[in-house]
Amino acid sequence: MGSVADTLGRPLRDVRISVTDRCNFRCVYCMPKEVFGRDFEFLAREKLLSFEEIERVTRAFVAHGAEKVRLTGGEPLLRRELEHLVAMLAAIPGLDLTLTTNGALLAAKAQALKDAGLRRITVSLDSLDDEVFRAMNDVDFSVIRVLEGIDAAVDAGLPVKVNMVVKRGLNEDSVLPMAHAFRERGCILRLIEYMDVGHTNGWRLDDVVPAAELVSMIDAALPLEPIEANYRGEVARRYRYRDGSGEIGVIASVTQPFCGDCTRARLSADGSLYTCLFATRGHDLRALLRAGASDAELEAAIGSVWLARGDRYSELRSAATVDLPKVEMSFIGG
Ligand code: SAM
Repeated sequence: MGSVADTLGRPLRDVRISVTDRCNFRCVYCMPKEVFGRDFEFLAREKLLSFEEIERVTRAFVAHGAEKVRLTGGEPLLRRELEHLVAMLAAIPGLDLTLTTNGALLAAKAQALKDAGLRRITVSLDSLDDEVFRAMNDVDFSVIRVLEGIDAAVDAGLPVKVNMVVKRGLNEDSVLPMAHAFRERGCILRLIEYMDVGHTNGWRLDDVVPAAELVSMIDAALPLEPIEANYRGEVARRYRYRDGSGEIGVIASVTQPFCGDCTRARLSADGSLYTCLFATRGHDLRALLRAGASDAELEAAIGSVWLARGDRYSELRSAATVDLPKVEMSFIGG
């Protein structure tokens, strides 16, 4: 089977797989405590796809031309023995396999993940200022422990990118120190505009620090120049330090939407296929799997969903769309 294209001519190239809807952080912009408190009901274990089911679905995506898989969540390292899943997926020929984590459990896991075949890793970190970081993760987790995780990944030979979500009035002052620190460490820093995902974070456009402003903040101290994307559909716009000391990326999904090039499918922890981060409904692949569907039937189901895909939420975003019901990022997979 070859490549499948949606109604806007976009191929299916990347798959983000959420392996759990649980997280050990309560980042204020993602899983605020008031909503994801003690009483919040996360998915029961039997509702989660098993590793074998995830592998089968991944092979079906690959049959449609998917080349890259990112494991995410919730916090993917909370899923027990995740390295076993990594090994199973790393055995699929030609697949670029990566993972996004908050880094809390990374120091203990980095080597096992690398040994299992993980190619690269993205660690989310919103500030080097311990007070600001603790306030943002809202579980009093210290920066030092995330930095230890990053060091362990680098030592294990995993290339590391660092994702930083910037929210106005919360961590703008952390942008420049982050740029300095990760330039020195040889990690690519990616600055992410705060998005209106889900409906629990109380998003307002005023809270978004536009990517152009983020680039100017860094450029004023560490001169930058734009560089070409690595491939079609790359979400980050790339800039390199003019002195040759590395690069940064900005993900401007609010101020410069990139729906036209979006080649991404998402699989939620309970096995639903979503064709947009801002989708309101998914397509239940778990039911198919558990009803005994063949590989051909699974591939046909994915193919027909993709063929009908016309999502371009970020291009249509307006005051009217902000209040639409949306699925939480921790569920659908960030
Ligand atoms: N727990 C893992 C982590 O922290 O990287 C993986 C899941 S998390 C949902 C994936 C990424 O989404 C993180 O980098 C996080 O900062 C980002 N994110 C969450 N909510 C966001 C929002 N409202 N706007 C922009 N990025 C967001």
